[in-house]
Amino acid sequence: MNIWGIIWIERNKMTDVLVIGGGIIGLSIAIALSQKGANVTIVERDICGRGATWAAAGMLAPEAERLEGDLLDFGIRSREMYPQWIASLMRLSGQDCGYWCCGILAPVLEESDRQLISEHPHYISREESLKRQSDLGKSILGSLWLPEDGQVNNRKLAQALLTAARLLSIKILEGTTVYQIGRDRDRVTHLDTSAGKLQSDRYILATGAWTRSLLPLPIKPIKGQMLSVFDGDRKLQKVIFAQSCYIVPRQDGTIVIGATVEDNGFSQGNTASGIAQLLNKSISVYPAIADMPITETWWGFRPHAPNEVPLLGASDFKNLVLATGHYRNGILFAPITAKLITDFIVDGIDDESIDLVAQVKT
Ligand SMILES: Cc1cc2nc3c(=O)[nH]c(=O)nc-3n(C[C@H](O)[C@H](O)[C@H](O)COP(=O)(O)OP(=O)(O)OC[C@H]3O[C@@H](n4cnc5c(N)ncnc54)[C@H](O)[C@@H]3O)c2cc1C
Repeated sequence: MNIWGIIWIERNKMTDVLVIGGGIIGLSIAIALSQKGANVTIVERDICGRGATWAAAGMLAPEAERLEGDLLDFGIRSREMYPQWIASLMRLSGQDCGYWCCGILAPVLEESDRQLISEHPHYISREESLKRQSDLGKSILGSLWLPEDGQVNNRKLAQALLTAARLLSIKILEGTTVYQIGRDRDRVTHLDTSAGKLQSDRYILATGAWTRSLLPLPIKPIKGQMLSVFDGDRKLQKVIFAQSCYIVPRQDGTIVIGATVEDNGFSQGNTASGIAQLLNKSISVYPAIADMPITETWWGFRPHAPNEVPLLGASDFKNLVLATGHYRNGILFAPITAKLITDFIVDGIDDESIDLVAQVKT
């Protein structure tokens, strides 16, 4: 802990922080703040970890996702934080999170694309791809091999975070909806919730795709449909990240297949065309899927922010901090978000111009 952290805790022994939203982002920040001595409450309208956090595939894939510039640095830093973050969470919770640095194969399916990326330092031929993962579809001409990208089981991770939060005595108000943020000029005064009025010294907004229902921020839901199949042979040992589908093998034989990208608000449910698209694509890339039983279908809403850059840090209100808009990479970005938001609050930085994503470079 740095000197500012110690001073902050001394001065604020009972600093109350109220986190709105109990997804991976709210939970991770709540735990990091609690470990610095804050008195934290999470307000979650449903069950913690049931939003996009539950729906995700859990890939830790800054390179396969082709993030660029500051966002790529941000993602790589967060991926590098993962082993230690998970180890400490497992120590705290006693639960496994399915973290697996299995590497990702990003196949090339068109000859024109193959020519474009054949000089890429991570490019490998079809033969080399087959050495890393057998039984790939005939359509695969070569691939990018990204050994440092990997995955975590996002549902197990959410459970471990929730257990850790409870063990740290974080107060968790599930089934409690925040209806409105009460304000007086540049300060939040209270929250109007289904459990009545709640007050705190500080507030953190971690409401994912639903953020606009509380503040007029440029966040919108992008729906993703998913399904899983079961691979009794467990032959698939690498994530396959193709152009319009990805295939994520878990260690228990479950294979998660995703995902559609639909800009149609909070429309509920799986559609036949959505699932057909995922099945057709995934079977062409990894044909053995054709004979595997389907075990589950589901959907979720990614919190999209402009330029796909999360909104982190200061808001228009001095005692409200933003932690939303993680779009396709909120599972990947969780450790670094928790650290930056906690540092931001502990060090008392009160500068609206600070760009937490870009700050990662320094
Ligand atoms: C199909 C799909 C696949 C994905 N795959 C990956 C992947 O492979 N890798 C990756 O890194 N990311 C992935 N993502 C993205 C990732 O899931 C999200 O970026 C991340 O979960 C966002 O976390 P969050 O905590 O901000 O949001 P959420 O998990 O959605 O949590 C927000 C919480 O806030 C609560 N809430 C909202 N409004 C209120 C209110 N008014 N009062 C009280 N509570 C409220 C909600 O109930 C919810 O629990 C995927 C997302 C989807 C949908």
